[in-house]
Amino acid sequence: MHRRRDLGGIVFVDLRDRDGIVQVAIGPGWAPAAVVTRAQGLGAESVVVVEGAVVARPPAMQNAELATGAVEVQATALTVVGAAETPPIPVARGKGEELPAEELRLRYRHLDLRRPELQANLMLRHRLLQRARRALSDLDFLEIETPILTKPTPEGARDYLVPSRVHPGEFYALPQSPQIYKQLLMVAGFDRYFQLARCFRDEDLRFDRQPEFTQIDIEAAFVGQEDVLGYVEAVLAALWSEAGHRLAAPFPRMSWRDAMERYGTDKPDLRFDFTIGDWTSHVRPLGVPFFQNALQNGARVRGIAVPGGSALSRKDVDQLAETAKAAGAPGLAWIKRQGEQVSGSVGKHFTVDAAGTLGVRDGDAALMTVGVDRVTSPALDRVRQEVIRRLAPAPKMAHALCWVVDFPLFQPDPETGRPVFSHHPFTAPHPDDVAKLDRDPFACRALHYDAVYNGHELGSGSIRITDPAVQRRIFAHLGLAPADIDERFGFLIGALAAGAPPHGGFAIGFDRVVMLLSGAGSLRDVIAFPKTTAARALFEGAPGPARAEDLAVLHVKVES
Ligand code: ASP
Repeated sequence: MHRRRDLGGIVFVDLRDRDGIVQVAIGPGWAPAAVVTRAQGLGAESVVVVEGAVVARPPAMQNAELATGAVEVQATALTVVGAAETPPIPVARGKGEELPAEELRLRYRHLDLRRPELQANLMLRHRLLQRARRALSDLDFLEIETPILTKPTPEGARDYLVPSRVHPGEFYALPQSPQIYKQLLMVAGFDRYFQLARCFRDEDLRFDRQPEFTQIDIEAAFVGQEDVLGYVEAVLAALWSEAGHRLAAPFPRMSWRDAMERYGTDKPDLRFDFTIGDWTSHVRPLGVPFFQNALQNGARVRGIAVPGGSALSRKDVDQLAETAKAAGAPGLAWIKRQGEQVSGSVGKHFTVDAAGTLGVRDGDAALMTVGVDRVTSPALDRVRQEVIRRLAPAPKMAHALCWVVDFPLFQPDPETGRPVFSHHPFTAPHPDDVAKLDRDPFACRALHYDAVYNGHELGSGSIRITDPAVQRRIFAHLGLAPADIDERFGFLIGALAAGAPPHGGFAIGFDRVVMLLSGAGSLRDVIAFPKTTAARALFEGAPGPARAEDLAVLHVKVES
């Protein structure tokens, strides 16, 4: 019972199920007096069974906003089959009425899930899951489940460990992904595998991550990068079509290096044209003090020409400078051109022509900073996103998908400078760069590709290492001693030595896809029972302390 109104002796009840709402009218003309009285006492969110006749509403009483607004049910019987206590958070909301705080909604998830918006999200999720299954099965992929109690599968996060009761002091890990198992399936001859896989990563939570999440995980043998990209395009096109959108495949491609150069990020949002330019040679002769020192130290001046950017207010520009500084840049220099006038923090150094060389036309602005790429790229990425948010320019297209390819195989660890993998340690080096592996590991590209949609990463994949010797070399680069390699990954290396076909795959972050296609504001709105950003399940109250006797059986001691 969604809502009740008593009007002149007739009780109108909005009855809700997962398909929507229908109005039930309970009045003395057609319902026994006891039924009318029962309806008058009906509490919100109670579960009722109603019998009656569906009748057309009189024209003046029709409600065009409701799918069932032309009819109502005239109830002749009404039974309460599940009485509800007064709900701690309301489910029915008036127009414009705010939602209760999210913490409360997560605490009373069983009620929040009754909300039509969340019901719609989970129904879409169901349809997308079925569609993914069908698309992959039609492409001859086999759905095969892999274990949840496993050995660690490194994907760059920490493992959730599960103590073994029967083997004191030993632990299973929950899979960060089915990566190793799907490779073993290729070695075993299954050729094409997929799974709607649960993955577990214990990481510091950011707003769009959950410690457990679902991937559409695929792997195929006797394939190269082109084949895998084709499969993923087919699955994504099927998912978008299920949500009523057409995607044009093949998606455009960009190298990681280009993406970093032109967008400052490996997740470029291609809906908007303006990109980052290298303005070092234009700006150097102008003698701008803000840049001069850094330029002597080999830095570059990079910036964004913003069409219509002179509409940015002084306050906007100041806040954009704060954004750049928060990302580590020394600040943001800016110019605006209006007519023959160039103004701005470094405007006096620019003629109209000099502004023109940066691509700044009448009514535009340019925002620039200086430094090494590691500093300017993230700063200008954030500035670009913030400019898009503030100026809200018309996007070129609604759905901008692209591939980012040729990622670096390793990245320097920010603290130690040692190589850490960009994707995971099973990713094949680019064949043209294998020779650089020992000489210049950071210059080595990988057969690693990401799918990006409107500035969001949808997933990653790679062609895998199938040569056991190369796999050992990569582990050694990552700092593993030979004995460690054998202990942690010997089973995989042994399998690769048993005759491994070339293979590669991909994983689509399914929760994120549902979030983007449903228009939900958060991953928590597309997962039935999500965790908070602090990795807590507020409804059921997990994690929680374990009882001493349970810990003893597991041979675990907790130190506080
Ligand atoms: N295992 C990878 C991941 O979870 C996906 C892949 O390489 O197929 O990101």
